[in-house]
Amino acid sequence: MALLLRVERSFKVNTVDKLLELQKRDCTIRDIKQELQDIPARQKEEEVRLDEHKLALAEAEDALKSEQASIADVELEINSSNEKISKLRQQQLELKTNKEFRAMEDEIKAVLSGITTFEDKQLLLMEDLEQASGIVEEKRKALAEEAAAVEGDKKVHGDRAAALESELKTLEEARASEAADIDAGWLTRYDLIIERKGRAMVLVDNGICGGCHMQLPPAVIHAAAAHNTMVFCDHCGRLLY
Ligand SMILES: [Zn+2]
Repeated sequence: MALLLRVERSFKVNTVDKLLELQKRDCTIRDIKQELQDIPARQKEEEVRLDEHKLALAEAEDALKSEQASIADVELEINSSNEKISKLRQQQLELKTNKEFRAMEDEIKAVLSGITTFEDKQLLLMEDLEQASGIVEEKRKALAEEAAAVEGDKKVHGDRAAALESELKTLEEARASEAADIDAGWLTRYDLIIERKGRAMVLVDNGICGGCHMQLPPAVIHAAAAHNTMVFCDHCGRLLY
């Protein structure tokens, strides 16, 4: 009888130790899987940032084009005013009276004054153009820097993912061989709990469940310490040891 108890106790202690080791490994495996899962999301965030830079550059280029178009319009106005003056001068030569001549002169002055207004506008637009051009350069530089950073990070992420994949493979192989060495009944329960709860094996500490921190009844505490059956927390369902 004493021998049987010792055997059972050693079985339980062994199984608990093995499951605790397995749990450590499972937690590492879970962290690695989580990190692997997060990598594409981080890459996506960077792609979004890159797209924002591309959009900012496109907007700056549009603004520059619009300034260029405004300048072209004003130049057109100035040219047509100059042509109009040439035409008026030509007509002026053919006029017969001083009165007609002066009237034409007034008309020419009005067009000349219009040209001055257009030229003032042209100067202001040139300043705007210079500013818009500076913004385009700034955005282009920012995009190039961001693109280089994203490219660098992509490489880092790729290398990290490859290292994690390889580590995961090793860990999963080790896990499989460790699991094969554990009592099937305990392992099945352990697997079910860890999948739902994140941690299956919890220590009874001062009569408190290490998983949900609820006070455990004396009978449960006693049974968990007895080392011969699986004992579960009534509150969270985890395996107590
Ligand atoms: Zn609990």
